[in-house]
Amino acid sequence: MAALPTLPRSQALIGGDWVTTQAVIDVEAPARGEAIAHIARSQASDVDEAVTAASRAFAGELGGWAGWNARRRSEWLLAFAAAIEADHERLAALECADTGKPMTQARGDITACARYFRFYGGAADKLHGETIPFESDFAVLTLREPYGVCAQIIPWNYPAQIFGRCVAAALAAGNTVVLKPAEDACLSVLRLAELALEQGLPPGVLNVVPGLGGEAGAALAAHPAIDHLSFTGSPETGTRVAQAAAEHHVPVTMELGGKSPQLLFADADLEAALPFVVRGIIQNAGQTCSAGSRLLVQRDIADDVLGRLAERFETLRCDAGEADADCGPLINARQKAKLEARLEAARDDGIRTLARGRLAEGAPAGGHFVVPQVLSDIPEGHEVLREELFGPVLAVQVFSDEAEALAQANGTDFGLCAGIWTRDGGRQLRLAKGVRSGQVFVNNYGAAGGIELPFGGVGRSGHGREKGFEGLKSYTRLKTVAIRHG
Ligand code: NAD
Repeated sequence: MAALPTLPRSQALIGGDWVTTQAVIDVEAPARGEAIAHIARSQASDVDEAVTAASRAFAGELGGWAGWNARRRSEWLLAFAAAIEADHERLAALECADTGKPMTQARGDITACARYFRFYGGAADKLHGETIPFESDFAVLTLREPYGVCAQIIPWNYPAQIFGRCVAAALAAGNTVVLKPAEDACLSVLRLAELALEQGLPPGVLNVVPGLGGEAGAALAAHPAIDHLSFTGSPETGTRVAQAAAEHHVPVTMELGGKSPQLLFADADLEAALPFVVRGIIQNAGQTCSAGSRLLVQRDIADDVLGRLAERFETLRCDAGEADADCGPLINARQKAKLEARLEAARDDGIRTLARGRLAEGAPAGGHFVVPQVLSDIPEGHEVLREELFGPVLAVQVFSDEAEALAQANGTDFGLCAGIWTRDGGRQLRLAKGVRSGQVFVNNYGAAGGIELPFGGVGRSGHGREKGFEGLKSYTRLKTVAIRHG
C-alpha cells in the first residue's frame, strides 16, 4: 500500500482544543479490510461540551466570532479555500485511503471542498434581506439572521465534499457548527478541522465530534441547545434524527438517499449519453446518493444500447483507490454483504446480470470489492428498481413511449436527480416538469457536481436545499421588522 500521509489527530475538536475521548474507534482501509488509524469515540458528554462551546462562540464569549461581519467571514472563507488547495495532495491521499475511492475522484472531492469555501466566501457578503411595500406609514424589512448553533451529521461517502457543503454555508451565514462525521471515514474532515484552526478560526466556531451514530450522533440530534440540524445519510436514520430534533422544534435539512433514473430516448446522442450512464453508477462505487442507478431506455434502441453498455461494463476494473482504477471497494464488509445478499435475491427472482466488470489483477485480497454490473429483465415493481442498493449496480428498464418513461421514472418513493437524454425540446421540458425530483439534467448528468446548483430531494430523498445560494439561505432564518413611522 502507498504510504499514508501524516494522519490527523485522533481526538475531538471542542472549543478550539483537541480533546482525548475515553475510547477510540478503529478506522479501516476498505481496499484491504485492515485498520489504518483510529478516531475519537465521542460520548454524549463530549457532544454537550461541543454544543456549549458553539453556543458561547456564537454569543461572543469565546474568541471574536460574534464581531466578525460578513466581509470578515468572507475573507476568512476565501483564505481557508486557499489553505485547502495548498494541502490538496495530503487531503486527497487521506480521502483515497479512508474511503477507498480512486485517487482521481479523491482529488476531485478535495477540489470541490475548496470550491465550496470559495463559493460561500464570495457569497457571504452578498446575502441580504428585502424591503416590502406595506401600509403607507410603515417601513418593512426582512433580515437574514444566522440560526446560532448548527448541528451537522454527515456520512462516509464524500466526507470532504459534504464538510465543504455544510460547514462553508453555515459559517458564511454567521453560525457556529458542531459536526459529527461518520465513523467509517472522516480522516479528511479531521485534517480540514486542523487546517481551520491553523487559519485562525476562533475557538468554538467549528467543533468536530467523531463517534458512533447511536452515541455521538444521537446525542447531537437530541441536544436541546442546537438551533438547526443538517443530516446527510440514510432515510431510516434521517427519520430518527428528525424525530429527535422535532422534540425541540429544531428546523432540519434532510439529504437522504436516491434511486435516480436516466431516461434514454431513441433520438438521443448515444455516444454522448453512454459515458454519463456508466460514470453515473460507478462513481464512488455507486455509493453516491445521486447515483444514476436506473437506466430507462426506449424499446427501439434497447438492444443496441444494452449491447454497447455490456461492452463498456466488461472493460471496468476494480482496485484499491491508489491504483486509480475505474472503481474502488465498498466502504465496509457490512455494506458488501448487504449488497451481495440483494443481488443473490435478485438472481433468484430471475433477474439477469447482463454484464459485469472484473477485479484488477493484483487487487488486494481482503478489500470489500463488488464489481460493477448491469441488471436487466427486471419484473415491474421489483425492489432493485425501487430501493437504493448503494453499490455499482445499474438496473435497466425498457419503455415504449414518453408516458411510460415518466411513469417508470416516478416509480419510486425517492426523488433526488434525473437525467433526460433526447433532442426533442418539447419532450425535454415536459419531462423536466413531470419528473418528481430535486434536480433534473437534460443531455447531461450530475453537471460535474455543480456546487452552485441547489440540491436536495423530494419524498424519501429528503427536504430542504443545500449547495448554491439557496444553501446559504438554508442556514439563515428570516426576521420581519415592521416599523411604523407615523
Ligand atoms: P447512516 O444514516 O447510518 O449514517 C449517516 C450518519 O448518521 C453517520 O455520521 C452516522 O454515524 C450517523 N448516525 C447513524 N445512526 C444515527 C443515529 N441514531 N442518530 C444520529 N446519527 C446517526 O447512513 P449510512 O448507512 O452510513 O450511509 C448510507 C446511506 O446514506 C445511503 O442510503 C445513502 O443514500 C445515504 N446518503 C445520502 C446522501 C445525500 O446527500 N442525500 C449522501 C450520502 C449518503
